[in-house]
Order: sequence, then C-alpha cells, then structure tokens
Amino acid sequence: MGADDDPLTSAVRGRVRTDPAELERCRRDASHLAGDPTAVVAPRDTEDVAALVRWARRNRTPLVARGAGTSLDGESVPTEGGVIVDFSGWNSVLEIAPEELSAVVGPGVVNWSLQEALRPHGLFFPPNPGSWTTCTIGGNVGTNASGPRSFRYGPTRVWVRSVEVVLGTGVPVRWGARTAKRSTGPDLLQLVIGSEGTLGLVTEVTVRVAARPAERDGLIVPLPAGISLGSVASRLARLADSGLSAVEYLDRPSSSALRASGRADLPADEAFLLLEIEAATRGELAARRARVAAALEAVGVSAPPIVFDDADRLWMLRGESGVVLDERMGIRVREDVAVPLPRIDALVRRLEAIGRDAGAPLFLFGHLGEGSLHPNYVVEPGSPAAERIRAELLDAALALGGTVSSEHGIGHVKRPFLARELGPAAIALLRAVKRQCDPDGILNPGKLYPDARAARAPSRSPSAARDAAVRPR
Ligand SMILES: Cc1cc2nc3c(=O)[nH]c(=O)nc-3n(C[C@H](O)[C@H](O)[C@H](O)COP(=O)(O)OP(=O)(O)OC[C@H]3O[C@@H](n4cnc5c(N)ncnc54)[C@H](O)[C@@H]3O)c2cc1C
Repeated sequence: MGADDDPLTSAVRGRVRTDPAELERCRRDASHLAGDPTAVVAPRDTEDVAALVRWARRNRTPLVARGAGTSLDGESVPTEGGVIVDFSGWNSVLEIAPEELSAVVGPGVVNWSLQEALRPHGLFFPPNPGSWTTCTIGGNVGTNASGPRSFRYGPTRVWVRSVEVVLGTGVPVRWGARTAKRSTGPDLLQLVIGSEGTLGLVTEVTVRVAARPAERDGLIVPLPAGISLGSVASRLARLADSGLSAVEYLDRPSSSALRASGRADLPADEAFLLLEIEAATRGELAARRARVAAALEAVGVSAPPIVFDDADRLWMLRGESGVVLDERMGIRVREDVAVPLPRIDALVRRLEAIGRDAGAPLFLFGHLGEGSLHPNYVVEPGSPAAERIRAELLDAALALGGTVSSEHGIGHVKRPFLARELGPAAIALLRAVKRQCDPDGILNPGKLYPDARAARAPSRSPSAARDAAVRPR
C-alpha cells in the first residue's frame, strides 16, 4: 500500500479498503482477465484525487480508475497491481440545465440513472450501451462508449461538453466548455475521451443532452436467410427524414439463445433487425414506419415487425443478449470490429470461415447500421486457439478498411493490434501525450499503448510480479 513512512491512509481523506471482499470485487471487469489490487480508494473530492495522484507518483504505484467495471478488454482490470480508484460513489447528477441542453454529473452516475433524471425534463442522453443499467458516465467517457442510438446520434465523444480531470501530474484541469460550440485550437477534451483512464482521472463531466422525441417505437423485423446485411445497412443509412435512430442485428444463434432463455418473446429462431424510429406525433411515426418498410422491402425484407411502444424495453432486451451468452456459454472471445457498410458481407463471410476452421461456434450481433459487429466465439479466451481467432478477425477487419475497436476500447487485450491500425507515427505521438500527462506512467499501466512500459519510470515492483498479476480468472 506504499512505503511505511508514506501510508496511503494518511495521504487521502477518502475511505481506503484492503479487505479481501473489496479487493475481490475490483479485480475484474467483464473480460476474462483479473489483476491483484493492493487497495481500493474512494476519494472524497477533486482535491483528494489530486492528493492520491501525488502519493502514487511518490510511491510509483499504479492507479486504476473504476466506474462499474463492465469494460470488455481489461480496461478497468489492475493488470499491474496498484490501487483502484473507485468512482462509483460519485453518483450525483449535479445540475440539469434544460435551457442549454446540458447536465453536469459525477463520473460515477450510472447511464440509466442519468436517463431517469433527464426524463421529467423531456430530455435524454443519447449514448445507450447495452450495459446502460450498470455502466457509468465516467466509464462511457473512458471508452468512448456507443449504443444502438449512436446510429443517429453518434458516440459519447459527441455528447461531452467538458470534463474536469486530474492529470497524472496531479494537476486538475478543465477541458472543453459549456457552450454549444467553440473553435479554440486542437481539442484537448477529445484526448481524454477514449483514453481509458491513462491520462487523467475524470472528476466531473458536463454532457450535452437531447430533447426526447414524443414518439419512439422499437421494431423487431425478421430477416430472411441469406439476406445481404451490407445492402440492408447501406439502404437504411441513406434513408432521409426517416427518424431512424437505431439499426441493430441479432443473428440466428444469438436470437435462439435469447429465446431459449425465456427472456425474450421472439417468434422464431431466426435472424432479426432491431430498429428504433422517432417522431413528434403518432401520425408522423406511422409515415416514417411506412418509409422504412418500403426501404426494407426494396432489399428483400418484407416480414411484418413486432412493435414495442416503449423502445427502451427493446434495448433492455438487446442488452440481455450478451448476458444470456455469458450464462449459457461462459467466458469466450467477445470482439468488437467495424467496417465500411458495403464490406459488411465480406466481413461476415470471413468471420464465419474463421469459426468453422477453428471449430468454434460463432454468435454475431451488433450495431449493423454503423457496420459495427460483435463476433462472439465459444472458445477459452487466452488459449492459443482464441488468440489465433482474435488475430485473424481483427486482421480481417483491418484488411477491409475497418477498425479493431468500434466502441469497447483497446484495454489490455487488444494493445498489440492498436499499432497495426494506427501506425508508428500515431503511436509515437500518443506516447508523447501520455508522457506529458502522466510522466511517471502511474495511470492504468498496461492499457491502450502497445508498449507502455517503455514510457514508464522504473517501478518498485519487479516486472515478473507485474506479469504474474495478469492472469485469466
Ligand atoms: C453486457 C454488456 C453490454 C455492453 N454493451 C456495450 C455497448 O453497447 N456499447 C459499448 O460501447 N460498450 C458496451 N459494453 C462495454 C462497457 O459497458 C462500456 O465500455 C462502458 O462504457 C464501461 O463503463 P464502466 O462504468 O463499467 O467503466 P469501467 O469498466 O469501470 O471503466 C472503463 C474504462 O474507463 C476508465 N474510467 C472509469 N472511470 C473513470 C474516471 N472517473 N476517470 C478516468 N477514467 C475512468 C477505466 O479506467 C477504464 O479504462 C458492454 C458491456 C457489457 C458487460
């Protein structure tokens, strides 16, 4: 917990816990990895966070920020040990300003709680990840999370106006502004979004919010076998004035698992599109639904949809698809890639071939309208077969002009693949930014940067011990 003459308990005012139950709670995220934290700190306020960072710098101890721990690639796992900075108690919605379409929140506010707080004001926060009933706004900022509604509204990045963040130097800064727009040079705020707690600890977030549409239907549309998913996505993406806010996909194995779990009243074991359409009136909604139906018919999709008047219920159900696979298949390779819409079919063919060759069943779902798919392979993560599958599918996405992470982040698991996508010049620049913001490399080491240790000052803990801390659960 630090040097005997510089105990953590004297450095911060917030609660410091070292009991086995609390350490156990914070060892993992939703990936297959686990680490060994030495303590969990719940800082009281921003000054306390700054004091914690100064202590960590003196003692060369890693600090790993944690919201709800739902990240999927080890983003919030203490892979090099150290202290967990638990922001889950920072869960106050500090201000809602309807007249300027913004809200100020603590980083530990759960996404769904923010939605509930905004509802009486006729507002909502558009990013709605499948984990929205548990994940936090700090975590959403950390991973630049998206959700079904990102089809129309974009990822978290678009919905943050400013952050207060304590950098790895121990200096608190406020980046961004409350205004609707600004042109003040390169955007430092955007450095923080998606930085996975590696540059600073976010202590407050000012988010943009949107007016809640009066009408919103969720639709489940059966897809015929052999349909071109790329054609469906491209056709729907080009629909003007349709109010279409989400275009999701569930393949047949995923929908069968969901149906068998009893959680979803799906009509049959088949593949489905999950759509959301927004409008100001029921009449406008009906006209928009007719336009979407005609567009779907043009690409060979004509089965009548199942309609949810409360679209949020549909996204709750969609969020269950990953949970059901967790229960039925256990830990597995869960990936997150995106390709340009016209290349979706080529990607799907490649994903199926990879699964067939490896003898690993494939479950495929995701945000089809954005070309973003989550292939899940039933294979032990960390095994040579799993790593081969991961490398092949990420390479396939890159070869098709896509990305190795459409929304989950890089974490520990995908570090080796970041350089393949960004190239050496971008990696060098990212490392320079990291050194500037976190000169001692104390913030979430072992994440994001392909070779973070090269940028790190000598640690008190031997590297062998660090490696031992990264192990499958
Ligand atoms: C069932 C399920 C469904 C999911 N669906 C989606 C989806 O649809 N879309 C999507 O994008 N993701 C999805 N995810 C992944 C995950 O929920 C998101 O990445 C989410 O943003 C993580 O939030 P969290 O509060 O759990 O963050 P954590 O896992 O606790 O942290 C995530 C990262 O942010 C950093 N961080 C957290 N708080 C702070 C802070 N205050 N300051 C600095 N850094 C911080 C952490 O260090 C870590 O690097 C899903 C996960 C699950 C388990």
